[in-house]
Amino acid sequence: MSFDFDSLIRAVADFPKPGVTFRDVTPLLADAGGFARCIDAMAEPWQGSEVQAVCGIESRGFIFGAALAQKLHAGFVPLRKPGKLPPPLVEVDYALEYGTDRLQARSDALRPGERTLIVDDVLATGGTLAAARELVEKLGANLVGASVLIELDALGGRERWGADVRLHSLLHY
Ligand code: AMP
Repeated sequence: MSFDFDSLIRAVADFPKPGVTFRDVTPLLADAGGFARCIDAMAEPWQGSEVQAVCGIESRGFIFGAALAQKLHAGFVPLRKPGKLPPPLVEVDYALEYGTDRLQARSDALRPGERTLIVDDVLATGGTLAAARELVEKLGANLVGASVLIELDALGGRERWGADVRLHSLLHY
């Protein structure tokens, strides 16, 4: 029987702004059994993919990414917001609904051809995951795929990601 992850994810209406339903994963993280099962289920599709590095996107991608890296016997690389990592850095700017944001990584964070998985908590419009992909490619790694806990189906993130590289979502809303 499949585990009821839904009951451990809180939907918060109109946060952080009107019209957005925020998916709060902190009840899932706080549940020892639920979190463990979640990481098992997120790791399962990648067993046998020989993932060598997991790139987690700041900040909730760090939590799921670091746990997945342990499960897959891979290293962990943080993809960070500006001002957090010391130079030398590689970076990618990306558009938000209002303004832009930036993801950065240490310029030698990944080895050439290193088999890399990108991890985040939520896939919405796909802008963040697309920027992470560009960054991983700039670093010269071999992108194996992306893994998110939650995909918001109506927002078109999967179309933006494309069909050429595998994208796995554990839950869909
Ligand atoms: P996007 O770039 O539009 O795909 O947005 C994905 C990023 O924004 C992820 O890093 C999520 O943590 C965050 N995010 C977007 N929408 C939500 C939501 N409804 N609930 C929680 N986090 C979200």
